[in-house]
Amino acid sequence: MQHLNCNGLAILVSRRAHYSMGKAIDLLGLGRNNLILVDTDVDSRIDMQSLRAEYVKLCEQNIRPLALVGIAGTTETGHIDPLEELADFAAEIGCHFHVDAAWGGPTLFSDTHSHLLKGIERADSVTIDAHKQLYVPMGAGMVLFKDPNALSAIEHHANYILRHGSKDLGSHTLEGSRPGMAMLVHAGLSIIGRKGYELLIDLGIERARQFADMINRHQNFELITAPELNILTYRYNPDWLQKIMAQLDSEQRQKINPLLDLITQEVQKRQREAGKTFVSRTRLYSALYPDIQISVFRSVLANPLTTEEILAAVLEEQCAIVKETEVQNLMQEIKQITA
Ligand SMILES: *Cc1c(COP(=O)(O)O)cnc(C)c1O
Repeated sequence: MQHLNCNGLAILVSRRAHYSMGKAIDLLGLGRNNLILVDTDVDSRIDMQSLRAEYVKLCEQNIRPLALVGIAGTTETGHIDPLEELADFAAEIGCHFHVDAAWGGPTLFSDTHSHLLKGIERADSVTIDAHKQLYVPMGAGMVLFKDPNALSAIEHHANYILRHGSKDLGSHTLEGSRPGMAMLVHAGLSIIGRKGYELLIDLGIERARQFADMINRHQNFELITAPELNILTYRYNPDWLQKIMAQLDSEQRQKINPLLDLITQEVQKRQREAGKTFVSRTRLYSALYPDIQISVFRSVLANPLTTEEILAAVLEEQCAIVKETEVQNLMQEIKQITA
């Protein structure tokens, strides 16, 4: 690197990147500071202007981008980066283009929705997690390379195993001995097949949109991020309070949001403990509340057997939990602030 007058290597990805990006840069020994987390727009997609600005900053320090990473389905909200624009930019600066499609990759099986991932075909490498939307058991993460020879950039051999010419992937991967997870992926592709996966993907997205409609129509809930794929986020926030909050400035809103956060956390915990229905929970910035992270319910519609009645029951149970004393006390505090 010194010969090339290069002071380091960096990976560029949006702030919404999965935490495994940090693991990867640790493993590569590039230094956490060289994982450049680029700002996003209000819809959690990488902001191209900020990306260019980060790139200029790197050039000034003689740090070269090793890879530009686009996300096809962020873990928290299922948003997709503008992959076509990222592919253009990677070509422009001459750097490896990786797409993290761990979650969203199988969307490609859907004739209706595959266009959402336009640009992914230009990636040099793509991650897909078969244990997510290919519905096989845990631990079937994959990385696909456009150029199969790229794999030989890293190759390890031993005299007792993985001899030259061996087809064992252990010569290229971090793990040496590995279980035969490929069998499960093969079985899924053979049994569920392209049409089956298309059905699962289409149903999930349709169901998520339906749930988003139900939340929008419900007088007690606020949709925080609408589903682009089959993930959406929302919270308990009755219509009357939403109307009041829309009139408040950001400082006043910031007195109410932490109380709503406590309600979200409390409801999610109690719902999980009761064991009848379940949604997950996270904290995020959103278009509605761009200046503060808020707690939200995160719902992933991946089970084709989930019906409208089940979704209605989830909301109903959440409303019932809000009526419990501890949660009502939090609502009282909010009412005092807005009185
Ligand atoms: C799940 C996921 C990963 C990988 O996580 P694993 O726990 O190793 O499967 C990477 N990126 C995204 C966007 C993910 O959703």
